[in-house]
Amino acid sequence: MKHTLSIVSIFVMVVVIAQSGAAEDYPYRAALKSKVITPFVEIVEDANGNGRYDRGEKFDDRNGNGSFDPVFIGGYGANRRAIGVHDDLYARALAVSSAGETVIVMYMDWVGLLYNHCAAIKQRIRIARPEIPWNNIVVGSTHNHHGPDMIGIWGPVPYLVSGVDYEYLNWALDRAAETAIEAFDSMQPARLKAIEVDCDKFVKDIHDPKIKDPMLTALQFEGPGGVIGTFFNWAAHPELLIESQTQITADYPHYLRKITEERFGGLAMFTPGPLGGMQTPDAPGNTFADAEYIGRGLAAAAAESLEKQTAYEPAKLEIITERFDVPITNPRFVLAIRAGLIGDRTRTPEVDGRLQAPSEVHYIKLGGLEIVSNPGEMFPEDGFRVQEQMEGRLNFILGLCSNEIGYLVPHEIWDPTMYEATMSQGEQTSPLFLEYFSGLLNSDFAERRRNQANVEEMTVPILAELPARTSPEAPWIQAEQSWEELRKPAGAADDGEDDF
Ligand SMILES: [Zn+2]
Repeated sequence: MKHTLSIVSIFVMVVVIAQSGAAEDYPYRAALKSKVITPFVEIVEDANGNGRYDRGEKFDDRNGNGSFDPVFIGGYGANRRAIGVHDDLYARALAVSSAGETVIVMYMDWVGLLYNHCAAIKQRIRIARPEIPWNNIVVGSTHNHHGPDMIGIWGPVPYLVSGVDYEYLNWALDRAAETAIEAFDSMQPARLKAIEVDCDKFVKDIHDPKIKDPMLTALQFEGPGGVIGTFFNWAAHPELLIESQTQITADYPHYLRKITEERFGGLAMFTPGPLGGMQTPDAPGNTFADAEYIGRGLAAAAAESLEKQTAYEPAKLEIITERFDVPITNPRFVLAIRAGLIGDRTRTPEVDGRLQAPSEVHYIKLGGLEIVSNPGEMFPEDGFRVQEQMEGRLNFILGLCSNEIGYLVPHEIWDPTMYEATMSQGEQTSPLFLEYFSGLLNSDFAERRRNQANVEEMTVPILAELPARTSPEAPWIQAEQSWEELRKPAGAADDGEDDF
């Protein structure tokens, strides 16, 4: 009997040791969640193959009003009207928690999202989950050039009529907030792998001077049951499927995510690095097969490196979030904002009569990594200037985060006639950000973190009400199903899942 007891107690001890070992192996809690945010498109039978709806061509009049209701595509020139959907657009949110601190990083397949609307997502998350601090929610866009106009400058008449469908926008902001809440609610034990791999052959700089940042960063969270999610950061425009392509798609990130998910399980998300002036994917052509070539190439490079990596980062998670606004001097943008075409004038702060482009800048320490965000399209040369002041084992930059303020053109190459300058807030934007980052990255992290201003209090008063949903039967509500679901013949099985 005694003998039996001691065997049992040894067995219990072994189990206890194994369990405590497991807890140390999985020092984080993490989840990556996804929801479809594809806009509702009336599909055109493009008889003459010109990529446009022409009078007389058949279309799927889903709301039965007898006329073709266009979705204006954000990216490239104005007045691009979607004629179909190739693959779904997504909101994806990574929630990570360690030692009582939780951070949510979420990106949507949009060309950009203005500060007001990023803040509106945060507000909706905070209403549902007040325990998530405002400062710990990071909202950005992938810079996809084949999704709906979310800013206003790609409508039927450029700089006169907005291309934003506010009913879609309102719905999609809800969906994005729900994605983050779901991620927060479903975090599970996880460990972290992080790699950086040179993907130079898949990116080119098409403007002088030719300077690239070809490093693909991948973070992978793995739980006891397998891979939870893979997070990518890379500096190239999701614009491989050029201007004439008018199907809704997430471009190469669609393939990068899909192929990574097939290989590892879990979900994958994409975030853009310093992709300004003018980082673009390098493929033989501009077809969906070429987008797949880029996605497959990046996925394979990351997978090979991730599979070799066994050293896990020590658990650490800290975030600093600050408001940083820059003056808008670009006369086109000033006019468009004052005309109510971009965002809403009442929601654009002014200092001494000068409009300001607001943003939140985040500085995250995760394991041995450092991450900073900026609200626009930083150039790689500025990216290097920022990264060399960072101290992580891996350092990277999230772009188009908390706003889309356009290009941050380095001062040494500023020329008011260059394309990037016409799509920037002004000549001082890049120098102001570089000065700001020098201050942020060289100050005492703990002290700066203690002294964070209340960004929520600064921001919520300038948020105007978004237009209410006016038609509850609006056709885009059907888009809560994925495009794959919509395409299934009537009566096909639906498992009720809408989050993948
Ligand atoms: Zn761009």
